[in-house]
Amino acid sequence: MNFFQKELETLSRDALTAIQNERLKKTIAYVYANNQVYRQKMQEKGIVPEDIRSLDDLKQLPFITKEDFRNHYPLGMCCVEKSSLREIHMSSGSTGIPVVNAYTDHDRKQWAECMARCYAMAGLEPGDTIQITPSFGLFNGGFGFFHGAAHHGLFVIPTGAGNTPRQVRLMNDFGVKAFGAVVSYALRIIEYMEENAIETIPSLKIGIFGAEIFSDSMRQKIEAALGIETFDIFGMTETGGVGTTGMDCPDHSGIHVWEDHYIVEVVDPETGELVEDGQEGELVFTSLTREAIPVIRLRTSDASRILSREQCACGRIHTRIDRIKGRLDDMLIIKGVNVYPKEIEHALLEIPGVRNHYQIIVEEEDGIQDVTVHVEVEPGVTGFTVEKHLKEALGFSPKGDVFPPNTLPRNEGKQQRVVFKKK
Ligand code: ADP
Ligand code: ZN
Repeated sequence: MNFFQKELETLSRDALTAIQNERLKKTIAYVYANNQVYRQKMQEKGIVPEDIRSLDDLKQLPFITKEDFRNHYPLGMCCVEKSSLREIHMSSGSTGIPVVNAYTDHDRKQWAECMARCYAMAGLEPGDTIQITPSFGLFNGGFGFFHGAAHHGLFVIPTGAGNTPRQVRLMNDFGVKAFGAVVSYALRIIEYMEENAIETIPSLKIGIFGAEIFSDSMRQKIEAALGIETFDIFGMTETGGVGTTGMDCPDHSGIHVWEDHYIVEVVDPETGELVEDGQEGELVFTSLTREAIPVIRLRTSDASRILSREQCACGRIHTRIDRIKGRLDDMLIIKGVNVYPKEIEHALLEIPGVRNHYQIIVEEEDGIQDVTVHVEVEPGVTGFTVEKHLKEALGFSPKGDVFPPNTLPRNEGKQQRVVFKKK
């Protein structure tokens, strides 16, 4: 069936636009009336809610950023009384002071609905078994997968993070069909299976992975090693957590953004101006159905582009964006060429004998970046092999340093793939 709410998931472009126009006007009036930060930002630009009549007027509105959340920590961005709140989540702090989001009961349901659509889109039906491996706590991953699974009627094995032997055992013992994970945790599971000569987990068919970039070659390696189909799920703390801003469908032709819940824009990171569809830029999200902390033109710092607003082979019309290219802050300049870590990862993992763990070390002096790739390899693969392939694939090469398996630093949760150092 692959749909959780077929009617809403297959709305026509005109119907989606009508819903977005209506909900945008309501949301703007709502934040203006209920939150001092939003009101002040609009007043500074001389905008009143009545100025926003349709999607075309969205570009007049000021942006918000992670900084606004930090400046108004803990609940300054909130539009409801604290007594209406039911849950909070916090960003993993990959990039500085954590960002807090809060949920009313309505927001929890909104999250669960977005996630339930993702599950159905991945092919999960009520009664199917899901193992949830992201941590349960302030990180939104564990609970996001959980709320959605409860809403869709899945049987949940809520393992949370860590204890890989037990994860694999439970997958086998309970005939788990799908698991949700931070991308690099899927790598850890594969590593453990290799170390213990476990060839397959026969019941496993589906992996729903997100929170980190994830190149096509990484994806192929994971799919081949586990014999599963993977889905790339996107979301961030500020938009309401995992799955809120969508996932790729079985056609794997981009991430469908749930457009009855969110408006997606792509802007030039320098000027803040909208770019044409197809052009790369910074993703900007506006939420249309959140109650505690709606986001209005949230700059994500994530690079992507609009792929299509037309109907997809899966039947959905909800706009497709490209899988995330990377964080703008992580873009490197190597020998005068702009490159994202994901492009390096893609080329790196094509090399026979290169394992799945790597770090990109960036040493900076007087604005000049000196980049070295640290990568785990099988015996016989040398730094020279790595550099030669990267040069062929990318046209230039950072330095390549090779390490034996299981020797590079690992985190629980998101991995630190790019390490910035002062020289
Ligand atoms: P942070 O990691 O910034 O502290 P979050 O835990 O809220 O905060 O994670 C959101 C960020 O994680 C996104 O802005 C994006 O950079 C990254 N991310 C989430 N899902 C994906 C995905 N599917 N592909 C690539 N990057 C992702
Ligand atoms: Zn589709």
